[in-house]
Amino acid sequence: MSMGDSFDEECDYLFKAVLVGDSAVGKSNLLSRFARDQFQLDSKPTIGVEFAYRNIRVGDKLIKAQIWDTAGQERFRAITSSYYRGALGALLVYDITRKTTFENIRKWLHELREYGNSDMVIVLVGNKSDLSNTAREVNIEDGQSLAQLEGLSFLETSARENLNVEEAFLQMINKIHETISQKSL
Ligand code: GDP
Repeated sequence: MSMGDSFDEECDYLFKAVLVGDSAVGKSNLLSRFARDQFQLDSKPTIGVEFAYRNIRVGDKLIKAQIWDTAGQERFRAITSSYYRGALGALLVYDITRKTTFENIRKWLHELREYGNSDMVIVLVGNKSDLSNTAREVNIEDGQSLAQLEGLSFLETSARENLNVEEAFLQMINKIHETISQKSL
């Protein structure tokens, strides 16, 4: 999405949030769903960070969320601290049909905590829930208990079926808004 008109629109808050997780867990499809309500069945790895904006109204405030996507850089372990810098929130994504992507969540969490804001809002997301009956490798309870242990919110989503995608992003955004408004009291 270009910075175009919507960037110039008046907003009360502008903040950055990031998508993290292993390759092919569905990060860019989640972002296209949220930003444009489109699903690309195949996505090409591109070089450089990509991001999308979306305006959300929370109460009487207009929030502009700038959401960064790794654009495939994680394949080359090329994500640097600048990716995380200044981010107030993160969607930490794994694929419920690939256990290794869940096992790697701890590694991503470590990076988020090392490079990100100390009070970053993190939502753990188990994507591809549409494949739950046929290819599930990670139980929903495992996601829930990891989230509980680490103090994260948790949801299972399907970018393909557009299930819980809006909810995942909005949970993060609402929590960020709470954090910001508490600070500015
Ligand atoms: P990224 O590398 O994490 O950004 O992952 P992508 O968004 O490129 O998705 C990787 C692959 O998983 C693509 O082939 C998508 O079509 C597929 N995919 C993404 N989300 C879903 C989903 O919710 N359900 C299913 N079944 N496939 C998905």
